[in-house]
Amino acid sequence: MRAVTIHQTGGPEVMRVEDVAVPQPGEGQALVRLEAAGVNFIDIYHRGGQYRVTLPFVLGQEGAGIVEAVGPGVTEAARGDRVAFSNVAGTYAQFVVAPSWRLVPVPAALTSTDAAAAMLQGMTAHYLSHTTFPISPGDTALVHAAAGGVGQLLVQMIKRRGGRVIGTVSSAAKAAVARAAGADEVVNYTQTDFVPAVRALTDGRGVSVVYDSVGRDTFERSLDCVGLRGMVVLCGQASGSVSPVDPQVLNAKGGLFLTRPSLHQYTHTREELLQRASDVLGWIAEGTLRLRIDRTFPLAGAAEAHRYLESRQATGKLLLVPGFLAT
Ligand code: NDP
Repeated sequence: MRAVTIHQTGGPEVMRVEDVAVPQPGEGQALVRLEAAGVNFIDIYHRGGQYRVTLPFVLGQEGAGIVEAVGPGVTEAARGDRVAFSNVAGTYAQFVVAPSWRLVPVPAALTSTDAAAAMLQGMTAHYLSHTTFPISPGDTALVHAAAGGVGQLLVQMIKRRGGRVIGTVSSAAKAAVARAAGADEVVNYTQTDFVPAVRALTDGRGVSVVYDSVGRDTFERSLDCVGLRGMVVLCGQASGSVSPVDPQVLNAKGGLFLTRPSLHQYTHTREELLQRASDVLGWIAEGTLRLRIDRTFPLAGAAEAHRYLESRQATGKLLLVPGFLAT
């Protein structure tokens, strides 16, 4: 099969489409023929070395497709099932072997493309808004990069729980995307300092929660946007990693709570995984959660997809579709 592999960390140029052996499923595993694979920021962290991986490494953590074979002891899926998954390594490929407990059935109303697009960013938006800081009516949330893949889904989920959203974006075009997702207020943080803007929009009180996926460029100022006993959720580092924090700063700024979560901690049992995935896929199937697929690429376009995501041009999901691979 063909797979996008790295033998060293670095820029997008280190990715190679290579012929590798089709992996075989062992105990508790399934072999899936991929119909679509999600491109996510974590793939950039793996490729660039910010998150350590063992080399050589087939990139990709998310996908959907058809079960081709199962290993001994598998009860969660059978040959021919259409499944979707995240937190499974090696999805920039034509086939992947996945732990069978991570496979989620795809509702008949959804394409595999939609399912692959929804799993990682959708379940992330779900845990952030429902579990890490469960939004209640009356809460105001600051969402950085609100026109991004996670951002648009997070804005929608905060709105469906009755919260108010202040979104930040880097351009007028992205402001329109964030508003279309439901953001009540949008601040262009490349033109306006978002701290006084957020204070003004909350009558000086500050927000209940900041979801900060941008990291280095925003984190310290995010702490200044939160009200008394509010929460700062540092959930990404698109601009780079943040400096160490003195806990006394959290005291001085109002007894704040700070957490740095990851999706795998919020889908660590099959029950929790199925509950989140069925909410997300179900809402998309019924039309109450809008998925915006920005661009799809062939496997050979993985480097172009990474450049596009890193250059802040993306406004929604990016996918690799192995079936495009005729070359
Ligand atoms: P996005 O589509 O949101 O793209 C990232 C966005 O971040 C850009 O569009 C840009 O929006 C903003 N940004 C700000 N500064 C930079 C910079 N220097 N370089 C690149 N982008 C920048 O990507 P995803 O939806 O895939 O991921 C969003 C974030 O969520 C990432 O940080 C990712 O790591 C994190 N994440 C965390 C998970 C978790 O469980 N903790 C799971 C999934 C994703 P703008 O131009 O408007 O500033």
